[in-house]
Amino acid sequence: MPPLCPIYVRALQEYLEALADEDDLPWRRQRRLLMSFAEFRFKMRGGSKCAVCRASVRHVLPVNVERLNGTLLEYPCLCTRCMEAEKAVSQRVVLQIGRAMIVHLPSTPQLETEQKKMRARAS
Ligand SMILES: [Zn+2]
Repeated sequence: MPPLCPIYVRALQEYLEALADEDDLPWRRQRRLLMSFAEFRFKMRGGSKCAVCRASVRHVLPVNVERLNGTLLEYPCLCTRCMEAEKAVSQRVVLQIGRAMIVHLPSTPQLETEQKKMRARAS
């Protein structure tokens, strides 16, 4: 068997460390796990393109979006800019691989006002 490239070994090591680190806070551990898995995948197979704007993406993670109007969207991956745009117009943005997930919920006052307006319109 040929020796593994040191880059793969380091990326794999970081991923395994994140898996083993049970002292970390659960949400921080899940975030570290997802990011180190994405980094490992990048080292092995390279990145991908953003599903919306085709920009290069290093950390390829599937994104599930729940818009304010209830529409559900699934993206194979998003660039940072499109991710921020989705966060601004959605009530939930979830990055998930297996049981590890990062959930972004809106916390900006402007969005809460928008949600109140939408609820008022709906009732
Ligand atoms: Zn994009």
